[in-house]
Amino acid sequence: MTHYTDKISIETSKTSKIDTVDFDNLDFGRLFTDHMFVCDYEDGKWQTPKVMPYQAMTFEPSARVFHYGQAVFEGMKAYKDDEGKVFLFRPKANFDRINKSSERLAMPAFPENYFFEGLEALLKLDSDWIQPGVGNSLYLRPFIIATEPAISASPANNYRFMIICSPAKSYYNAPVRVLIAEEYSRSADGGVGFAKAAGNYAAQFYPTSLAQEKGFQQIIWTDASTHSFLEEAGTMNVFFRVGDKLITAPTSDRILDGVTRKSMLQLAEDLGITCEVRRVTVEEIKTAAKEGELKEIFGTGTAAVISVISAFEHKGELFEIPEIEDSYAKLFKKTLLEIQHNISEDKHNWRYEI
Ligand code: PMP
Repeated sequence: MTHYTDKISIETSKTSKIDTVDFDNLDFGRLFTDHMFVCDYEDGKWQTPKVMPYQAMTFEPSARVFHYGQAVFEGMKAYKDDEGKVFLFRPKANFDRINKSSERLAMPAFPENYFFEGLEALLKLDSDWIQPGVGNSLYLRPFIIATEPAISASPANNYRFMIICSPAKSYYNAPVRVLIAEEYSRSADGGVGFAKAAGNYAAQFYPTSLAQEKGFQQIIWTDASTHSFLEEAGTMNVFFRVGDKLITAPTSDRILDGVTRKSMLQLAEDLGITCEVRRVTVEEIKTAAKEGELKEIFGTGTAAVISVISAFEHKGELFEIPEIEDSYAKLFKKTLLEIQHNISEDKHNWRYEI
């Protein structure tokens, strides 16, 4: 699959940090590989992309990203199988999504060949950082920021696209207790909830910290206008199992179109599990919980794959969801991880070999 453009410039690192890394005790997102990918947008076009040693960068204090938040990002992972082959999972979906996010923030689209060639060049150089074994991965963070030094409130003329890589174990694995949002919202109709815009995450920190003070790890976000429809859990899409049926909200301009969510919907179909994609009300989930029909709630996302929700609170009423034997969460997590790690058949062509 290698098809490097001869335009990509590669400067390799003279030393490697890899011997200092304790791969069994990784703190998510704190440690980065030896190289990064950088491409600048100037004079109306993306310039020659570079792979270079991971390093600090300087920006003028007036760089527009610091003032108006023109910043979008992606989250994806590379996996290694037992033979040492490296795979990405549905990377085209991340590529399409970063450009969708950019468009909403009036930022220029990034070219597809640069995105894939950058990923390939980087992963070839830093492949030793990807540990084999289910649950191990290299988390990849593509992002774009407005670099132009000017503090008038208008879109920048200059941007920087980068990819940095951080070794990861699947994290977030302990079941979480969540609060259903009654006051704060993460997104609104016509807003930017569907985009991976940096500001969306900043805006979640404060309400989440209030929930944490009450003993909940995350918030299930509801629609901004009525707070009666369940939309996302923390920074994950959310699924409810009522009886043997799954329910998840449809994507919209308020909800991120998660790659894991999409994959879950396909896997449910493959496994013969009914999954309704429709608006889900807080009331129906509370009623299902009271009637003993609410079997599971779980979030889906690249970082944790699946995060089980073991309790939720709404208007002061607490609902515990007891662990069950034949959990869909466990089944889906195992099924997806085995596809990602090249253990099971990839009938939907989701793996992308590097
Ligand atoms: N919702 C939000 C708000 C997110 O930030 C993410 C993580 N990208 C997701 C859902 C899950 O998306 P994905 O499955 O593509 O990681």
